[in-house]
Amino acid sequence: MTMFAIGVDLGGTNLRIAAVDSGGRMLEKITLGTKVVRGRETVIHDMCSSIQALVERFGSSAGQLSGIGIGVPGIIEMQTGMLRESPNLPGWSDYPVREEIERRLGTRVVLENDANAAALGEKWLGAAAEVDDMCMITLGTGVGGGLVLGGRVFHGMRGMAGELGHINVDPDGPPCGCGSNGCLEQYASATAIKRMAMEAIASGAAPELERAMSEDPEFSSKGVYQMAVQGDAPAREIFGKAGRALGIVIADLINIFNLPMYVIGGGVSSAWEAFAPAIFEQVRRNSFVYRATAPPEQTGGMPATNVQDPACRHTVITRALLGSDAGLFGAARLPMMAQHDAAKATLQDLKRA
Ligand SMILES: [Zn+2]
Repeated sequence: MTMFAIGVDLGGTNLRIAAVDSGGRMLEKITLGTKVVRGRETVIHDMCSSIQALVERFGSSAGQLSGIGIGVPGIIEMQTGMLRESPNLPGWSDYPVREEIERRLGTRVVLENDANAAALGEKWLGAAAEVDDMCMITLGTGVGGGLVLGGRVFHGMRGMAGELGHINVDPDGPPCGCGSNGCLEQYASATAIKRMAMEAIASGAAPELERAMSEDPEFSSKGVYQMAVQGDAPAREIFGKAGRALGIVIADLINIFNLPMYVIGGGVSSAWEAFAPAIFEQVRRNSFVYRATAPPEQTGGMPATNVQDPACRHTVITRALLGSDAGLFGAARLPMMAQHDAAKATLQDLKRA
């Protein structure tokens, strides 16, 4: 029997809801503004109406509903389904998200950190589909991370593992929203790229960036990228900094985990050409495990080779493939996996009886 699930990506600016079948086909996607300012009641209400609409639409044609998976920005307590802290969703701290949505919909809800969900999406249908163990770093407004080990999200003790955006790159670096200084997020997020551009302009050393910014009131990290592509040295240096910071963190991850694949996604990853060379240079310098396992002349985007044969495996650092849909696919995958686990446990109980 075919199955489908609803995946939700609750971002700081967009709320997206999709129906996805068990074969990984997206049946329909709804995008709503999050209206964070109007409060969580409005957001939860809009989310639940869209979920109900999709369940009704596909309930007969797409088979049985596995459940609802929701990717949420912030740190989540897996056991209780509480959102403990979310910089992008003010007013949601210590809110029982899972319980509230389950109560309204009367169905099973699986909650996950949004970057963990994106990692699971890339593992299921994207860049890491051929490997069991992977790590993903998501470069957006902030920097998120997710670890998938043995095909499953690694949660740590309470569900808060994988906060790769807050690995320290420079203890004397800029203050971070998490309370520390010089986290990866302060160098490789869209916010950081823009901040570094403002700093370069303030120092008087970036006249072209200054001109571009004065001409465009909505000048953002994308504008800095365009300047870098055109060869502007200060803009290129900003992406160099981002790449070096990513390289430091990825080298640490390689030394700790020796995984076959590190995937970089999120909006800023579309500037891959501008920062990837600095990643590879830094990783090669910092990680002897990488030097021992690097694919021959990796320039990026190289697929994993000979994944079946451990002796031939290489450490691959590459771009994500699913774009902004990674989190939606991963969120939809969660209830499917939970259902599969439950069925397996029942089968084992029956065998034992
Ligand atoms: Zn931080």
